[in-house]
Amino acid sequence: MNKKVTTLTEEMGVAEKIYWIEAIKGLWITNRHFMANMAYHIGVMFGIKSKGEHASATYQYPEVKRPIDIRWRGRHRLTVKQNGAMRCTACMLCETVCPCDCIHITPGESPDPHVEKFPERFDIDILRCCYCGLCAEACPVDAIRMDVNDFDVTGFTRDIIFTKEFLLGTDKKRPWEEFRFEEQPEKKQITDAAEKP
Ligand code: SF4
Ligand code: SF4
Repeated sequence: MNKKVTTLTEEMGVAEKIYWIEAIKGLWITNRHFMANMAYHIGVMFGIKSKGEHASATYQYPEVKRPIDIRWRGRHRLTVKQNGAMRCTACMLCETVCPCDCIHITPGESPDPHVEKFPERFDIDILRCCYCGLCAEACPVDAIRMDVNDFDVTGFTRDIIFTKEFLLGTDKKRPWEEFRFEEQPEKKQITDAAEKP
């Protein structure tokens, strides 16, 4: 089937063809915003304006964080039932569907006689994750969600694994803030060797 393709062309006016008129217009817009913002911040400094008013769309990150949409997919978390037990039944659907191969689950026998399995280990290698959200979509029991409004998921190590405890919120330590050599002896050996002159 041949589809008709319409090409839209917009002719430039005389003022646009004379480049510097448009350049001056652009500079005027930039300066107008700059002056408005500066007047606002000076007003706040002298108590004339309140901080709630925003002169510009710029957020003073990290002090002021941008409001996040309710549908935003961010950092993962594992949910629990009302009795505090994990919802996850180690069905492996999320691990199977993950296109980046970053979820690693070790299933174990659940202590609850009504539940067959639970994850003894549940690790997400977050540096491989592309935040596609497929794991949260695939979970049949709503055990994994991506609704933690956490921007700070970067660090100085390239070995960021979200453990089950961290995903459940029982381990408050951020994995990237403390690099634990004692848990990774092979990494320590490599680093020691590299530090030798
Ligand atoms: S968001 Fe996508 S890439 Fe990340 S863990 Fe889930 S399925 Fe894998
Ligand atoms: S988080 Fe959901 S999909 Fe993944 S193993 Fe647990 S129950 Fe299955």
